[in-house]
Amino acid sequence: MIIVMAKTATPDDITAVTDRLKADGFQVHISQGVERTIIGVIGERTEEVFRLGSMQAVEQVVPVRRPYKLVSRDFHPEDTVVRVGNVRFGGNRVVVIAGPCAVESRDQVMQAAEAISHMGVSVLRGGAYKPRTSPYSFQGMGLDGLKILAAAREKYGLMVVTEAVDHASLANVAEWADMVQIGARNMQNFELLKAVGQIGKPVLLKRGLSATIDEWLMAAEYVAAHGNPNIILCERGIRTYESKTRNTLDLSAIPVVKQLSHLPIVIDPSHSTGQWNWVAPMARAAVAAGADGLIIEAHPNPAEALSDGAQSLNLPHLAELVTSLAGIADAVGRSL
Ligand code: PEP
Ligand code: MN
Repeated sequence: MIIVMAKTATPDDITAVTDRLKADGFQVHISQGVERTIIGVIGERTEEVFRLGSMQAVEQVVPVRRPYKLVSRDFHPEDTVVRVGNVRFGGNRVVVIAGPCAVESRDQVMQAAEAISHMGVSVLRGGAYKPRTSPYSFQGMGLDGLKILAAAREKYGLMVVTEAVDHASLANVAEWADMVQIGARNMQNFELLKAVGQIGKPVLLKRGLSATIDEWLMAAEYVAAHGNPNIILCERGIRTYESKTRNTLDLSAIPVVKQLSHLPIVIDPSHSTGQWNWVAPMARAAVAAGADGLIIEAHPNPAEALSDGAQSLNLPHLAELVTSLAGIADAVGRSL
């Protein structure tokens, strides 16, 4: 349910409503808009909320039928801006995240970090815990990998995002990185989502391989319901009958998510296409379609990469792509 307060409502009016709701055991979320305040209410007994409609400062009480509440635009009509250090996701600027699929060595990460720091890329990616399809593939450097990322952050002034795959890795990632990535394979690992809800770091929540947008938003709701509102959604391609690409990039998720939710959305053109020379066109299309950011795999030497080399850009190609994005951002009223 949402309670739309009248334009003329004073802070005391708002407190009167929220006090009554809290006393009745409802969870209350206030969204202070420019025009008016909206109070999101979570709880079962809808008649009691409707009764508040008779208060003078209340304009109307509206039921929210969608299963997600905190992440829905009904509860929070204005766009949410998620801050990762000094980087803002969901504002006017389109944020580029780039780096290797996996942390492989100090040299590899430092080379990538140095290059991207000169391109206007503000966030470094790199997996230290890798959820690989095969148990025989490189599984990541673990804590040593996180320390390498942290060293690159110090040296080049970049923010760092890296994936957590379970509770133990989450504790380490929360300590060493600026943002926690929850990968496609863990999007519905509800115990992990609850734990992510309890940490004080922003979350990059990737869409599951076969998840609907509603399932994805419910996963975000788990994180928000457990206390962490700093969520960035990431579309990374979904499984369809098409086999030429690794996955099918669902670009329509951008306007759909923007309508349903206030959370920022970034696009991963790397895992969706699976091939480096298809990354740039889809990255540009994503910016044109209104994405708040991109996460792109890039490697100093893709041919030698221990994971996802085929879809990784080399560093000159990444620089070329980032340069080309500025004009597209500009054409849709954004900046890079
Ligand atoms: C990754 O970002 O390297 C990754 C494993 O992504 P996804 O979870 O989208 O497959
Ligand atoms: Mn990868």
